[in-house]
Amino acid sequence: MAYVITDSCVACGTCLPECPVSAISEGEIYHIDPDTCIDCGTCASVCPSEAIIPGE
Ligand code: SF4
Repeated sequence: MAYVITDSCVACGTCLPECPVSAISEGEIYHIDPDTCIDCGTCASVCPSEAIIPGE
């Protein structure tokens, strides 16, 4: 189950270099490719906006 980035994202870029499988892409708000994400939670732990949550 992939993590997801919510509207709380401020596109700061903190998570981008932390993802071990490069599942995160830039944008107005960032996006996690659910097919690539291995559900490690690293991005969620570094996000200063607490914008990244486990998907359902
Ligand atoms: Fe990458 Fe892990 Fe975040 Fe998934 S949970 S997007 S694998 S850092």
